[in-house]
Amino acid sequence: MTDLKAVGARALSREPHAARRPRVEPRRHSIFTTVDLARDGKQMGYFHVPQSPHDDAWGTVRVPLAVVKNGEGPTVLIEGGNHGDEYEGPIALGEFLRQIDPAEITGRIIAIPAINIRAVEAGRRTSPVDGLNFNRSFPGDFDGTLTRQIAAYVNDCLFPEADYFLDLHSGGSSLMILPSAIIESGTTPENHRRNIEATLAFGASTVVMVDNLGETRTSTAAANRQGLTVVGTEMAGGGLVSQGALALCRRGIRNVLIHAGVLKGEIDLPPDANSRILKVAGGPAYMIAEDEGVFEPLTPLGADVRAGDVAGRIHFLHRPEREPIVLRHAGDGVAFAMRQPGKVRPGNCVYVLATDYPAEEWS
Ligand code: ZN
Repeated sequence: MTDLKAVGARALSREPHAARRPRVEPRRHSIFTTVDLARDGKQMGYFHVPQSPHDDAWGTVRVPLAVVKNGEGPTVLIEGGNHGDEYEGPIALGEFLRQIDPAEITGRIIAIPAINIRAVEAGRRTSPVDGLNFNRSFPGDFDGTLTRQIAAYVNDCLFPEADYFLDLHSGGSSLMILPSAIIESGTTPENHRRNIEATLAFGASTVVMVDNLGETRTSTAAANRQGLTVVGTEMAGGGLVSQGALALCRRGIRNVLIHAGVLKGEIDLPPDANSRILKVAGGPAYMIAEDEGVFEPLTPLGADVRAGDVAGRIHFLHRPEREPIVLRHAGDGVAFAMRQPGKVRPGNCVYVLATDYPAEEWS
């Protein structure tokens, strides 16, 4: 039996691996920064994406970019605000940046706490500028619309600088998710193993392996393709700020930095850390609404369910004579995510089930 706490507490290697990857020149672009990625100390600045809208002919979209560096060592890139209605990561990351003294680290932290800035300003999952989902826009395009330009900058200019990538998500407006550290699928067994070790260091009680149905356009998929060690999170949701998830996020940021060998100190794993290691096992794990109506969820988040258990009902408010549709879970598992808005249409995801991810499959 693998000792999960021991696995979570040690890194396979604390040597920077960015330097060992083949160097690829960024595609041609016009984005510029107010920080120097190579300079020691703490810099809280921006990168600027030149745009030329009606009311700002030579203006830019300004995206927060912070660098904390002390000598040579690994680089950890931390992202918040990938979706603009997911708040625990950006809040915890901002706090961390305000508090951190460069003397406490060895190596470098690059932080982009509100990367999808126009979506963050709007409190929306997608950008109000071009309607795109930043996390379906990689590897991006410097000649594309704003969201694709920002993705290209992260892909071409920040990932090649980094050894680790921590991508802080929450459920957002349409989902409530069991606060979890997320194992992102590595592109090689060695990459996958590194991802698992770093994710177990985060210190969440629930750890879930996801593959987003094989989606290749996410920031974590792009980081994996470049060989970074990748850790994700899902923290509560509903467009709300959860104190419990915030506490988990604050601790997890520090733990991953310690695991990477960047932050001094001991990893702080609570007694229930890594007590449930799960995976979202493909399409059947997603329960999809089959009719238009109002969804009444009947499975509490985190509940253990069995195949055939009632998940919820869809009510038809415009036809009170019609009985609601009863939705039943297709398999055994844990209710990992649940739809937030009551209104549903065919195709909406109402529950996601996670199942055991036994150590034999990954250790
Ligand atoms: Zn998200």
